Amino acid sequence: MSLPFFHRNKKNHKLERELRNAFKNNELQVYLQPRVDTSTKKLISAEALLRWEHPVWGFVSPNEFIPIAEDIGLINDLGDWVLERVCKYLADWERMQLRTLPISVNIVAQRFLRRDCFLTVTSILKQYNVDPKYIELEITESSLINYEKTVVNTLNQLYELGIKVALDDFGTGYSSLSHIKDFPINTIKIDRSFIQQINYKKDVEVIIKSLIFMAKELDLNIVAEGVETLEQYDFLRKLECKEIQGYLFSKPISEEEFQKLLNKSKLEPNIHFSLT
Ligand code: C2E
Ligand code: CA
Ligand code: CA
Repeated sequence: MSLPFFHRNKKNHKLERELRNAFKNNELQVYLQPRVDTSTKKLISAEALLRWEHPVWGFVSPNEFIPIAEDIGLINDLGDWVLERVCKYLADWERMQLRTLPISVNIVAQRFLRRDCFLTVTSILKQYNVDPKYIELEITESSLINYEKTVVNTLNQLYELGIKVALDDFGTGYSSLSHIKDFPINTIKIDRSFIQQINYKKDVEVIIKSLIFMAKELDLNIVAEGVETLEQYDFLRKLECKEIQGYLFSKPISEEEFQKLLNKSKLEPNIHFSLT
């Protein structure tokens, strides 16, 4: 149920204040959600996702606080901080002689509009001695359309450095397929809203099939997001969709928990989750 305007406003003000404090007081954490090779079930990479555990309210959803961070201009600092944490994780794993995997970081398009973007990203990587090939930036389709030119220039610079780029929530924006060739892109992530329809909607299955085919032909990596059931997994495996991400294999977990997965030869689907 949506709140009356003045209530929503009041709540937002409180959230704004609390979010600024949370950022200052280290109440935020960067969780990791595995991306799994569909055919071998091997852990091949992960997505970094922000978590905010408020001392009184408990976990606050990023869907709630990310738009606020955008409104109050905190999102750029927050994004840089996430990248910094991820680079620290990668440096720690290397030092501990654990496996090093590429990690993807969500970036809002407005970050690419700031002139310091390229320099900031490269200096964070340098600080932790991280090879750019271990970083993938996830950017949404719709945000690309709004800012195109400047965003594309910065993206190109980062891409040339070896950083990868993923198009997030693919299929939900208004961009046309032709955009794919206009941007430097390595990966497309099929939005969860499509994956949920597997076994229910034939026409959506056809769209998924076509996307997988298209990615193969264009030599792009493809990831299915929000895979929750064995049926969805089987459908995607048979179509040779390269990677999947979803609760079936793992929810986003803390870095401590993630470390335990690094040495496993493969992950197993969580059948109990699939049945619930
Ligand atoms: P997203 O980038 O599309 O991230 C995927 C979301 O789907 C995550 O939600 C993840 O927990 C959830 N998810 C993954 N697998 C499943 C599944 O099998 N079932 C269901 N129901 N959900 C699944 P989360 O962590 O709540 O994040 C929501 C959104 O908030 C993200 O969507 C992203 O847009 C934004 N966000 C999160 N962290 C960051 C960040 O560090 N920076 C920015 N700019 N945005 C972020
Ligand atoms: Ca994402
Ligand atoms: Ca997504």
